Amino acid sequence: MAELRAVIFYDRDGTRYYRCPRCGMLFKNSKDYTRHVNRSHGHLFR
Ligand SMILES: [Zn+2]
Repeated sequence: MAELRAVIFYDRDGTRYYRCPRCGMLFKNSKDYTRHVNRSHGHLFR
């Protein structure tokens, strides 16, 4: 299954965030991001 690639960036504290390029939601770890993509945008990859 294809995956939507997260936009990764760092804030001033050096904390890494994963941003969904489709809806702009932010996640602090890749697991939450992947789950979001599968649940919210998974239909795009069928
Ligand atoms: Zn999204």
